[in-house]
Amino acid sequence: MSLQIEPILCRPNTMDNYAYLLTDTQTKESAIIDASEAEPIIRVCEQKNIQPKYILVTHHHEDHTNGNLPLKKKYNLQIAVPRLESSLIDGADILLSENDTFSLGKSTAKIISAPGHTNGHILYYFTEDKALFTGDVLFNLSIGGLFEGTPQQMWNSLNKITKLPDDVCFYGGHEYTGFGLSHLSDDEDAKKYLAFIQEKLGKNLPLTGIPLGLEKKCNPYLKINAEEEFYRLF
Ligand code: ZN
Ligand code: FE
Repeated sequence: MSLQIEPILCRPNTMDNYAYLLTDTQTKESAIIDASEAEPIIRVCEQKNIQPKYILVTHHHEDHTNGNLPLKKKYNLQIAVPRLESSLIDGADILLSENDTFSLGKSTAKIISAPGHTNGHILYYFTEDKALFTGDVLFNLSIGGLFEGTPQQMWNSLNKITKLPDDVCFYGGHEYTGFGLSHLSDDEDAKKYLAFIQEKLGKNLPLTGIPLGLEKKCNPYLKINAEEEFYRLF
C-alpha cells in the first residue's frame, strides 16, 4: 500500500464537506479528491510541502468543485471529472467513465459509475490500497439525496459498493456521521460501529475510512436486500 490519505474538512459547521489529499508515498505524486474550497486545501499542501498534480472530481455540485479553478491557477494542476458532467465543470482536462483507470504514481483507481445523487456521479476505487471515495453517494450510515437520478439508479449504484470486499475502507464527501447515528439500530453490529467511531474520536481523527464490512451491517440503506423495500425509503 502506497497511498497516504489526508482528509481535509471544508466549510465546517455549514456543509461539512471532506476534501482528501492523496499522496503516493513512493513517487510523492499528489491529488485532491473534491476540492470543496481552496483555502483549507492550500493550507494543508503548504504544511506538507506538497504540489498537487490533479483534482479528482466525483460530481459537479458546487460544494465539491468550488476550489477547482483557484487551485488550478496556483498549482497548474489537471482536473479529472466524470465524462457525463464535463460540460457542468469548468476547467476539466481529463474525462472519466465506468471502468476507466486513473493512475496516481504507483496507485491506480478504477472508476465506478454511480448515478443517483447526480446523473454522472463517479466513485474512485483504489483497488490495491483498498480505498473507495464515494462523494455524495455513500456517507457514514446514510446516503446522498436523489437530486437528479431515480431510486432504481441509486439501488444499482449502492449494489456496486456492497459487492466490494469488506476490508475496503470508504471515504465520503461530507461529515454527516451525527445524522447517521440517529438511525443506528441497537444491536451488536451497531455497538461495533460506535466503538470504531469512539476510537477515532479518542485519537482526534476524522470519522473517515470506515471498513465497508462494518458499513454494510449498519447503514440502513445498505442493510436492505429487497429492492422493493429500498424504494419504500424514498
Ligand atoms: Zn452533491
Ligand atoms: Fe455535497
